[in-house]
Amino acid sequence: MSATAELAAIPASMPMRPLGRTGLSVSVLGFGASPLGDAFRVTDPAEGKRAVHMAIDHGVNFFDVAPYYGLTLAETRLGDALAGRRDKVVLATKCGRYGVDDFDFSAKRVNASLDESLVRLRTDYVDLLQVHDVEFGDVRQIVEETIPAMRRLQEQGKARYIGITGYPLKTLARIAESVPVDTILSYCRYNLMIADMDEILTPVAKRHGIGLINASALHMGVLAEDEAPEWHPAPAPVIEAGRRAAVLCKERGEDLTAVALRFCADHGYASTTLVGMSTRKQVADNLRALGKQVDGRLKKDLEALVAPVFNYVWPSGRPENQDAHDSSPQI
Ligand code: NAD
Repeated sequence: MSATAELAAIPASMPMRPLGRTGLSVSVLGFGASPLGDAFRVTDPAEGKRAVHMAIDHGVNFFDVAPYYGLTLAETRLGDALAGRRDKVVLATKCGRYGVDDFDFSAKRVNASLDESLVRLRTDYVDLLQVHDVEFGDVRQIVEETIPAMRRLQEQGKARYIGITGYPLKTLARIAESVPVDTILSYCRYNLMIADMDEILTPVAKRHGIGLINASALHMGVLAEDEAPEWHPAPAPVIEAGRRAAVLCKERGEDLTAVALRFCADHGYASTTLVGMSTRKQVADNLRALGKQVDGRLKKDLEALVAPVFNYVWPSGRPENQDAHDSSPQI
C-alpha cells in the first residue's frame, strides 16, 4: 500500500468515550508510552517523537507513561514530544514503582515522585496520577497513605484525577471497594488471550462509575509481529499460541495485531485500550485497525486456537495480593 493509500484507510474521526465520571473524554485508542523508554527493545527517539505527533494529529489524546518505563527515559522522551502540544492530550503517569524490584508507596515518595515527573514531562500538572502495580505494595498502606497523599496532590492542582494500576484483578477490585478512585488500569486481562477482567473487575468499575483503562491489547507483544520480549512473564505455550495465531491470520490475509486491537476496542465499558507504540507505522496500523471488520469465521478459529491457554494467569506481586489461579489452565 502506498503512503497516501495507507493514510486514506485511517478512519477520519477518532471515537471518544468518557473516562468514568471524571468529565474527561478519551480516545478509544490510547498511546502506551512504555516502548518510548525502550521497555521492549531499543527504539529511535526521533521516530518515537514523530509517532507521538502522528497519533495526536489523528485524534489519539490519551497518553500513559510512568517513571519506571526505561527508568525515567519514557517520561523524558514523551515530555519532549509533547512540548507545544500538552493541551491536546490527557496525560497519565504513575508513582510507587521505580525499578524491577524498587517500590515505594509512601506519601513522601509520592509527593517527590510527581514533582520529578512534572519536570520530565515539562508540565505543571498531569491529568491522571496512578499508583503503579499495587500488588507489590501493602494494600493497607496504599488505601490509608498512598491514595490520601494523591488526593492532596489533586487538591493542589498537580493531578486532576487519581487511579490505580496492576495485574491481579481481585486486589485492584479490593482497593477500589475500600477507597474512592477515579480510574483503574488493568493490563493483560482482556484481549484475545484472556477475558477475566469482565468477570472480576468490570462490574466493580461499572458499579462505582470508575474509568476503566484496558492495557496491553497485544498481551505485551505476544500478539504483535515481533518476538515477545525476553522478560515476558507468560510461559512458552502462551507465546507459541500467539505465534500460531499470527500465522493463521496471515494465511487469511489478515494482520493479528489489527484483529487483536479491534477485539479490545469493541469492549462495552472500557474507556480506552492502551497499545504500546514507538513508530509511525505502528500508529498508522493501529489507527487503521479501528475501522476494521473482523470476519466471524476467523474469530472462531482464533478462539479455538488459543483455547488451551485462554485465561492463563501468571503470578505477580506479593503472595497475599495474587489472584488465586483456580480458573487458570494448567500449562
Ligand atoms: P502491548 O500489548 O501494547 O504491546 C506492545 C508491543 O506491541 C510493543 O513491542 C510494540 O512495539 C508492539 N506493537 C504495537 N503496535 C504494533 C503493531 N501495529 N504491529 C506490530 N507490533 C506492534 O503492551 P504494553 O506496551 O505493555 O501495554 C500498553 C501500554 O499500557 C504500556 O505502554 C503502558 O503505558 C500501559 N501498561 C501499564 C501497566 C501498568 O500500569 N502496570 C502494565 C502494562 C501496560
